[in-house]
Amino acid sequence: MPTHRIGRVSYVNGRYVPHSDAAVHIEDRGYQFADAIYEACEVRNGSIVDLTRHLDRMDRSLRELRISEPMSRKALALVLAEVIRRNRVRYGSIYLQISRGVARRDHPFPTRPVAPSVVVVAKHGDQKKNDAMAVAGIGVITMPDLRWGRVDIKTVGLLPNVLAKQAAREANAREAWLVDDAGFVTEGGSSNAWIVTADGVLVTRPEGPDILSGITRRGVMDTAEKLGIRVELRAFTVEEASQAREAFITSASSIVMPVVTINGKSVANGHPGTLATHLREQFHGVVEARNLSTRIPI
Ligand code: PMP
Repeated sequence: MPTHRIGRVSYVNGRYVPHSDAAVHIEDRGYQFADAIYEACEVRNGSIVDLTRHLDRMDRSLRELRISEPMSRKALALVLAEVIRRNRVRYGSIYLQISRGVARRDHPFPTRPVAPSVVVVAKHGDQKKNDAMAVAGIGVITMPDLRWGRVDIKTVGLLPNVLAKQAAREANAREAWLVDDAGFVTEGGSSNAWIVTADGVLVTRPEGPDILSGITRRGVMDTAEKLGIRVELRAFTVEEASQAREAFITSASSIVMPVVTINGKSVANGHPGTLATHLREQFHGVVEARNLSTRIPI
């Protein structure tokens, strides 16, 4: 399909506009204070993977920040579907951002209620490239976790993540694992972190204010359950990860991505692990089966 000939279209506050003209006001509180939340979902075969869970997490983020819901779930699902349709995305991602709205710059919430700003952007992805990356595996570096105490809320305040991921790029790594004061890995700059123990048990940090509860993380937990693989919810150190049988990350953009080096040192034999690879293969089947009754058709 000649996707490159179709101009990109994004959604801004009720309008579908050419991507190059898509803009919010300079006094949008998302721009001024990072007073905004977002979701990023995988698009596969033209539909959104695990939409219900993404919208549930979005609702929670909005509630935690006391930003009002801009529209009904049904209307929002239609907007997401329409942006995907107008951009002819079969494989890629859909990004949704909701800010508290536009108001004269002042830290407390606007006294007169303002409408939240809603932005939706679709992106084409390269499935072959991502699958090739999973076959090769990726490198991660570790960095101190400098973020605030409520990273369970999916806000656009991502400066520590930006700096950590830039450091990863400069070290020829794909991800930065963030490490708390006690030496335990919290999560990646834009992913959740996992290891596999010598006994073949999956280990990932439990939900809490110090990690984002990844939708892919939960899908991988469902997949593990289906395959009879044990999951232990506990924190692990960089040292334990370096000695682990396997390591991997999960996110909507990478699904399950094997980690083959940590700070330049090989994990196990330096090749993607069998469990990570198996989970990657089985993931969508499990998620799709679970969503059959609840998926909003798009
Ligand atoms: N942690 C952080 C900090 C992230 O930015 C992301 C990706 N949005 C994740 C974890 C993974 O979440 P999900 O599986 O919902 O993409």
